[in-house]
Amino acid sequence: MGQRDMAELEKLEEMYKNRNLLLRNGETGEKIIGYLCNFAPPELISAAGMIPYRITGKRGEIIEADDCVEPLGCPYIRNCFEQDLKGEMDFLDGRVISHSCDAAQRIYGIWNTYKKKQYSYLFNAPHGTSEWSRKFFKRELLFFKESLERFVGHKISEADIIDTIELYNQNRQLIKYLYSLRKEDPPRVTGSEILKILLTGCSIPPENFNVFLKKVMSEIAERKQSQEKSPRLMFWGCIIDDTNLFEMIEDMGAHIVIDDTCIGSKTCLFNIDTSGGVWEGLTKAYFDAFMCPRTDRGPGLNRFNYVLDLIREYNANGVIGYMLNFCDPHKMDYPDLRDYLDEQGIPMLLIHDNYSLGNIEGVRTRIEGFIEMLSHA
Ligand code: SF4
Repeated sequence: MGQRDMAELEKLEEMYKNRNLLLRNGETGEKIIGYLCNFAPPELISAAGMIPYRITGKRGEIIEADDCVEPLGCPYIRNCFEQDLKGEMDFLDGRVISHSCDAAQRIYGIWNTYKKKQYSYLFNAPHGTSEWSRKFFKRELLFFKESLERFVGHKISEADIIDTIELYNQNRQLIKYLYSLRKEDPPRVTGSEILKILLTGCSIPPENFNVFLKKVMSEIAERKQSQEKSPRLMFWGCIIDDTNLFEMIEDMGAHIVIDDTCIGSKTCLFNIDTSGGVWEGLTKAYFDAFMCPRTDRGPGLNRFNYVLDLIREYNANGVIGYMLNFCDPHKMDYPDLRDYLDEQGIPMLLIHDNYSLGNIEGVRTRIEGFIEMLSHA
């Protein structure tokens, strides 16, 4: 690793550690809008002249939030709410929540009651995939744009939206290139490093992320490949918004070469094509092709073809699934996915967590056993 390489990666480390502080000092002068899920496209928030900030949690105890919401619900959502109650998100001017799952939808009103913002919006994403659902989604995009316009006090032109989409597409292209380096055996970049980059990108304006990505990318691309070959894993499941688990897995000698998670391949590996119009492009990307288990795509196991395609493209030999307690969408999909992968000869290990990694030693032992098994397969 060269001197320049060290410098850029050290910067990444620093930015990642302080990612929740990067926008706090108000230096940019722009309004900052927190959002929980990509159904409400961050591109529209940027096109309105504001900075989208992906709301994430901080593993640890949930105390204050449990006075306001039932404790038997998604620990990730409750933890995000807890951070805001503690004052960790006071720098946000607004909050956008999508009806991604029932946990997210239910927290909307409660969150607004206990922590009011200048702006709040519930984005209604339909759960079916019929033509009517598609029309509903497209109409909801327009409602969201109009709501943002009312808040900022000016119109958002289609030209501005196209420019913003182009910037986000560039970012996704750069990330796609980084992902492609994981197809190598052994990969030139680790799963933890990519997650660190993506999480940092959630907390800075997209144009700054673009500059940052180019620098980090060129450093990583110059790296020499090591010789050491190890089991190659896909990571599937609920949101993962820190690198602790990835680092633990990679420290055990496996490579996480691909993921199917929302701060990961789901939101970073596509391109939005606006040649058929802005709203059609956004609908194709965030409705048709957005493979979140919260959308009902019928009982056919072919809804998992895309998972198998990713496994083959990145040459993974096993899957680690990550399930947060009370996550109905992922719990509903898991048995079918496990059976589907089993039929294809791909082993899967499922890890349960309450968003604390409190059972870390038990998790470590199970993952060690899984990696050991793959090493001898
Ligand atoms: S982890 Fe599951 S329950 Fe929680 S917000 Fe995500 S989809 Fe909803």
